[in-house]
Amino acid sequence: MTKTRISLFDTTLRDGQQTPGVDFSIQDKIIIAQMLDELGVDYVEGGYPGANPTDTEFFGQKRTTNASFVGFGMTKRPGVSASNDPGIAALLQSKTDSICVVAKTGDYHVRVALCTTNEENLVSIRQSVEAVLASGREAMVDCEHFFDGYKANPDYALQCAVTAHEAGCRWVVLCDTNGGTQPSEISEIVREVAKHIPGENLGIHAHDDTGQAVANSLAAIDAGARQIQGTINGIGERCGNANLISLIATLSLKSKYRDWVEIGVGENQLSELTRVSHRFDEILNRAPDTQAAYVGTSAFATKAGIHASAILKEPETYEHVRPGDIGNSRRVMVSDQGGKSNFITELKRCGIEVAKDDPRLDGLIATVKEREAKGYAYEAAEASFELLARRRLGHVRKLFHIESYRTQVERRYNANGEITTVSEAVVRMEIDGHSIISVAEGQGPVNALDKAIRKDLGKYQENIADLELVDFKVRILNGGTEAITRVLIDSIDGSGGRWTTIGVSENIIDASFQALIDSINYKLMKTVPSA
Ligand SMILES: [Zn+2]
Repeated sequence: MTKTRISLFDTTLRDGQQTPGVDFSIQDKIIIAQMLDELGVDYVEGGYPGANPTDTEFFGQKRTTNASFVGFGMTKRPGVSASNDPGIAALLQSKTDSICVVAKTGDYHVRVALCTTNEENLVSIRQSVEAVLASGREAMVDCEHFFDGYKANPDYALQCAVTAHEAGCRWVVLCDTNGGTQPSEISEIVREVAKHIPGENLGIHAHDDTGQAVANSLAAIDAGARQIQGTINGIGERCGNANLISLIATLSLKSKYRDWVEIGVGENQLSELTRVSHRFDEILNRAPDTQAAYVGTSAFATKAGIHASAILKEPETYEHVRPGDIGNSRRVMVSDQGGKSNFITELKRCGIEVAKDDPRLDGLIATVKEREAKGYAYEAAEASFELLARRRLGHVRKLFHIESYRTQVERRYNANGEITTVSEAVVRMEIDGHSIISVAEGQGPVNALDKAIRKDLGKYQENIADLELVDFKVRILNGGTEAITRVLIDSIDGSGGRWTTIGVSENIIDASFQALIDSINYKLMKTVPSA
């Protein structure tokens, strides 16, 4: 049986940019477009060409290889011809494959927002589509407020959509702009529209204001639409857009869809889904949602000791899909409630075999529990966990020792009268019986410490030469003056390894120092042959 192709349209760089607190730099946009392209979405919408310097520069060249690169703009204004409309002109100057114009489709919005007549609005839709097609590009029309417009005046909303279709646009996208429509209403209205416009030309653009953007997108597909618009991790204005990550997993893995649907995301790309989702959050500098559907670190996690052993015997009882299919993994968590079998499983993941009756195991469990009570979160810092475990089980040599360190930060005016800050760190260490004092300056105290420690690690210097700190996350664990700071550091090396370490202290520099030292020790543990 030939499968039906569902087209995926990503609007992370346009609608996603509307998320409070999100502002993509051009570099972010380039990286995200590339990620989406590699993931296998069909359309990458990049923003509004001509609207601001970032978008204008971004649209100066095509940013995708496989996916269609899309610019977004308004239909031509009433009263001017398409060729004289500056908005349309900016769209046509962009290096895009497709152009999506947004049109009003509710007569209320036509009257109030556009201050024009229903007839004039239809002319704008038709002429805008014609102008895009004349430039040799594919045209799409986003029918703004379509579902509310349809409820108020079905004939006119439909007339707008049909006008766009008849003018030759590839996709007529039905938008639930304020996100209030329910799945059963979406299904009913899309079914009606599909009597006038073939489903293969219909798209759905859903917002998550009632927590149902994914459900609404699927309802539209069930009713005949063949394009879904959404964003990575569902970011977007207010409560966000339809989450493409969840939709990709559902369309690929759930037999209700898998059996007849085909998308541009293949098996290999699907297994990257978790990584893509988390990497995107890293670009936004926010912690991934641990409970995100399919890709959250807790999506296939369990805490209870009894469940843990049952899960290992019969995973399908507890897991609705196989975690590995989307690049996630089963986690039997090291935590307060964790029993011995959880620990043994977690240790196995790190490649450590330990007998259940080994007394050192009890010592390790006690240490982990004690530290977690102080604010350590080993679930988020597996490298620190492995290091701690190997130490307690007697597998790690101590290669260097930090006797003390001191940092200072100076804020002053430079010769040009500008404010500048300089940080310095002095570290006393011992390596192979030799005492070393290392001094370095850095952009901040942690950077200075890092430089001072890594300046001269004697014969181990080569082992850490390719170590790079790539992310630094700080969380304040309890408010007030006695706040505890937790620092997570992500490190990478030349072999493609990536690991996370943790530090906890009342002092942010010291918490950072602990995470930093763990990262160096972890790298040495992996690369220095045992004596
Ligand atoms: Zn939207």
